[in-house]
Amino acid sequence: MQCRGVELTFLRTLTAISQGKQPGPENSICKVITASARQDIASFAADLLDVAGSVSGREDAPSGGMFHYAYLAAPGMRIAAGTDEILRNIIAERVLTLPGEIRVDRDRAFSDIPTGSN
Ligand SMILES: Cc1cc2nc3c(=O)[nH]c(=O)nc-3n(C[C@H](O)[C@H](O)[C@H](O)COP(=O)(O)OP(=O)(O)OC[C@H]3O[C@@H](n4cnc5c(N)ncnc54)[C@H](O)[C@@H]3O)c2cc1C
Repeated sequence: MQCRGVELTFLRTLTAISQGKQPGPENSICKVITASARQDIASFAADLLDVAGSVSGREDAPSGGMFHYAYLAAPGMRIAAGTDEILRNIIAERVLTLPGEIRVDRDRAFSDIPTGSN
């Protein structure tokens, strides 16, 4: 069902582009779903491969190391191009038009935000 949702969202995007419109924030749905699905698939494949799932290298590993690589790269995909949390905020606020999160740092310059060292 999630895959179907991604497919329909993607088709909606193609339709918008074909009509000369800008794709909208709903594309965050595709990123959230596919990044975590990719991690689930890679994890499942690593389990199926048992010890062989931990072998890397195109020559030595099953399927050319595809699943080993996917397993290691999957967590990064949940951060790159917007973390899950940021994308969920985008979906909530800009797609579902839910009220925005309380942001205490909204009117503060980035350099004025306290860090562990100040
Ligand atoms: C594999 C990989 C490839 C990348 N490739 C590129 C690239 O090609 N070009 C490039 O410019 N960057 C790239 N990045 C960087 C990536 O865009 C950032 O790491 C990502 O946007 C997260 O920003 P950050 O690391 O500053 O984390 P932060 O923004 O500091 O976030 C830290 C944590 O706080 C959470 N958080 C932050 N703000 C909020 C909020 N308002 N609400 C809820 N939660 C919040 C985040 O979800 C996260 O868990 C890549 C990262 C990875 C892992």
